Amino acid sequence: MNPISTARTAVFFHAHPDDEALLTAGTMAMLAAEGHRVVLVVATSGERGQADVEPGEALGATRMAELYASAAALGCARVVNLGYADSGLAPGGGVADDRPDGAFIDADVEEAAGRLAAVLTEEKADLLTTYDPAGGYGHPDHVQVHRVGGRAAEIAGTAIVLEATVNRDPLLRGLRLARRFYPQLDIRAFERAYSPGDVITHRVAVRRFARQKRASMAAHASQATGADTRTLGVMLKIPRPLYRLIFGTEWYVRRDAPLGSRLRHPFEVPPKG
Ligand SMILES: [Zn+2]
Repeated sequence: MNPISTARTAVFFHAHPDDEALLTAGTMAMLAAEGHRVVLVVATSGERGQADVEPGEALGATRMAELYASAAALGCARVVNLGYADSGLAPGGGVADDRPDGAFIDADVEEAAGRLAAVLTEEKADLLTTYDPAGGYGHPDHVQVHRVGGRAAEIAGTAIVLEATVNRDPLLRGLRLARRFYPQLDIRAFERAYSPGDVITHRVAVRRFARQKRASMAAHASQATGADTRTLGVMLKIPRPLYRLIFGTEWYVRRDAPLGSRLRHPFEVPPKG
């Protein structure tokens, strides 16, 4: 049964094209199918992503085209690019030294939050998604999404802020098990990534939207090969049975919901703490 009687507006804020595919695509497709307005905002065009082609303007254009195709598959009403430069990633992870002018990681948080808040205000957004404080697997632009998103919601007075994340506990359990069969699997990157299960407030079942989620992922063809440290590349290394687990649920943390909340829908009203 659809628990929602009034159409609302949800803005999904991501760092790069393709981040939406794995973290929030099922939720986006679900809300769109329920008749809500779903808006996808990226901070950058992902022009420094790892791909088979050289990073740069052409890759950025390719990735924006992929983002539009993904958004169409998910039923988004609008796509916005805040227009920062992709900060890239240092070879071993962390902030790259050779990042371009205007890199998102160098943006003033207040200024960037102002740009996103303008979209939230224009859209009269009821809900904004950002990332957990770890920035998922730790890409500097993802950490910046957490900072900028939180501040933007304050400026715009957006009522509901959900941090998109992955439940680290079953992920690590599964990866440790998988390592018996894939000894080369390096799970260190996952040990501090995302969020532990006990802080997660939302478990959204999205298996019904697996088709849309797969279509969203497939739209990002440039990141499916050659990718190594991007979300899609990291996730594609996960063995198949685990992959299904990742596909079936999307996780969020709502900071103003009491710890131990087990909410099923982004617009569900949290219990009193
Ligand atoms: Zn990203």
